[in-house]
Amino acid sequence: MFGKMSVRDLDVAGKTVFMRVDYNVPLNERQEVTDDTRIRASLETIGLLLDRGAKLILASHLGRPKGQHKLELGLKPVADRLAELVDHPIRFAQDCVGDEVKELADNLIPGEILLLENLRFHAEETSNDPEFSAALASLAELYVNDAFGTAHRAHASTEGMTKHFAQRAAGLLLERELTFLGGFLMNPNRPACGLLGGAKIGGKLPVIENLIKNLDTLMIGGGMAFTFFKALGLGIGESMVDESMMEIALQTIRNAKKDKHDIQLPVDVVIAREIADGTKVQVVLPTDIPDGWMGLDIGPKTIERYSDVIQASKSVFWNGPMGVFEVPSFARGTHSLAKVIAETTAQGATTVIGGGDSVAAITSLSLTDGFTHVSTGGGASLEFMEGKMLPGVAALSDAKEAMV
Ligand code: ADP
Ligand code: MG
Repeated sequence: MFGKMSVRDLDVAGKTVFMRVDYNVPLNERQEVTDDTRIRASLETIGLLLDRGAKLILASHLGRPKGQHKLELGLKPVADRLAELVDHPIRFAQDCVGDEVKELADNLIPGEILLLENLRFHAEETSNDPEFSAALASLAELYVNDAFGTAHRAHASTEGMTKHFAQRAAGLLLERELTFLGGFLMNPNRPACGLLGGAKIGGKLPVIENLIKNLDTLMIGGGMAFTFFKALGLGIGESMVDESMMEIALQTIRNAKKDKHDIQLPVDVVIAREIADGTKVQVVLPTDIPDGWMGLDIGPKTIERYSDVIQASKSVFWNGPMGVFEVPSFARGTHSLAKVIAETTAQGATTVIGGGDSVAAITSLSLTDGFTHVSTGGGASLEFMEGKMLPGVAALSDAKEAMV
């Protein structure tokens, strides 16, 4: 598992464990958790720790309170939801540091959980302040990180506080992320293909350079395709474009050609004059987008081509929707390929999906079970695929230390 210590290797009986979790969940006006996926995702590691007799402290951020104590971003609703999901007593601390919290932590007994208030109520969390880090660390004897979504940030709870612990382990969720994303980067079953789309080309182009080395085919779709088309000199009408990335896009294509890597762009696109369901659409060649029209989905020929590549693959990595899938008129590319990938998974391929919107797209189709691994981290999974060492991962103990 990428050479890092796992929570399974820790001797936790009777010890206080600080676990960084990702409880950045959506709340409604009545302060109720509207989607508890992330809370349920943490239950496996929580169960393991409590079964082994740990005293467990859980900490997370929620939203962007920017160092203010914002009542509406408090974690109490999460504590309530968690209490419905686990059979262990749960205490809730009104803050994440300070005397009261310390006392609650010191009085924990094995099998109990203490959930701390939103870490980002203190600006020192994101500024990775050493004193704040030390205060967090003073609460526990062992450290576990199970929040992959923030592992690309060097914050007090993901990086600063870890310096105070001899043993720093990956939780089961984080471990699974490293196993699947790492496996994909290092040694995917061949043939391997990647599917990149969505809007944020700035964050995604650097991934291509690294990812393509281990892929047999990389297919581009979504809004980012039009930056490539414009860079190649085509007229793209009103389509989404990031002019600042055009030069790099061109370079990426040149490098791929030079190294004989197969990069594919859409061969047809669905265009419209406005982003509205039921509006008049046309399917055209990428060379034929008229002024005033914009490309909003990949066309049927592209779907066919990309499907063939996916079906012939043993590994598939997907990040970024193929079109404006939120609007039914432009959802066909994303939905069709999601179904093809799910079928390919059923035939034994390893399939990995990352990216907030991409995951939302397959969730709305109830297809999350059709993927081998659904990555919880948007930015984190991209930075990982780019080949960067994530600070929250680098901070964990090496696996060999687990043996001593
Ligand atoms: P992810 O969150 O999966 O990483 P991004 O955030 O990069 O994906 O992009 C998702 C957004 O891209 C979606 O909201 C989708 O509507 C938009 N998008 C996809 N294709 C196009 C397009 N052709 N034109 C404009 N927006 C697009
Ligand atoms: Mg997104």
